[in-house]
Amino acid sequence: MSSDDSEGTRDLGAMVITGAGRGIGAATARLAARRGYAVCLNYRSDEGSALALAREIEAVGGRALPVRADVAVESEVEAMFAAVDRELGPLTALVNNAGVLEKQCRVDGITADRLQRVLAVNVTGPFLCSRQAVLRMSTRYGGQGGAIVNVSSAAARLGSPGEYVDYAASKGALDTMTTGLALEVAAEGIRVNCVRPGFIYTEMHASGGEPDRVDRVGPGTPMGRGGQPGEIAEAVLWLLSDSASYVTGAFVDAAGGR
Ligand code: NAP
Repeated sequence: MSSDDSEGTRDLGAMVITGAGRGIGAATARLAARRGYAVCLNYRSDEGSALALAREIEAVGGRALPVRADVAVESEVEAMFAAVDRELGPLTALVNNAGVLEKQCRVDGITADRLQRVLAVNVTGPFLCSRQAVLRMSTRYGGQGGAIVNVSSAAARLGSPGEYVDYAASKGALDTMTTGLALEVAAEGIRVNCVRPGFIYTEMHASGGEPDRVDRVGPGTPMGRGGQPGEIAEAVLWLLSDSASYVTGAFVDAAGGR
């Protein structure tokens, strides 16, 4: 049976998706809900988008719980996972998707404050959320196992010169965390994998000061176009699924050949 055949018919447990109100996180949440997960839609500031997505998922019979939490703040992360325990039941999956970048500039323009903001969301956040997930899913602590996917970036391989080396470095750290955590919990029923998107049509590029960046750089990729959030969601859901049951510590480059 393919995973599509089972859409809407299975209870796959609870999934936390950080930064789920829009972009890649929202596409992942939509697909996860269709596949049978009860989804926690984490957001930091855009409550309207998260609530609208929750209504959309519930309107077609899915279960969704919007939760505001800054992934870089430990107490807020703890409260979010506690809410999932109460409202959605046993956690089986985590997608560390929330991420930020700031205005395009060279390394000689990056201040300590900016660096701390980027690392807090892109590195501290996934560590804090993974900690809560491992405490719930690991057989070491009486859990039933599960899966984690980190949303990194092709930038981790390419370095983003002249744009945001700080962001690229944060994704390099996330890649290393993927490897280390995957090995740490491999015998405890938890698989940890990573998806590295290329240029994807989301609002993130506006944060870098260039909303139409994907239109500019997409045609220069081997596939000649930027990607859609749903194309990343498919890779994430495959890595989380039983179809990837022998896959851990792996990196899926979803970047059009770049
Ligand atoms: P996006 O459209 O800008 O969405 C970012 C999401 O992250 C939003 O939902 C935002 O919440 C959330 N977020 C930001 N800071 C947060 C925090 N401290 N706590 C909780 N949530 C927070 O970005 P996207 O393009 O979908 O990116 C998703 C992931 O893909 C990121 O990790 C990004 O680095 C990665 N990625 C994107 C691309 C691309 O081309 N778009 C390429 C490679 C990798 P609010 O809505 O509440 O602000």
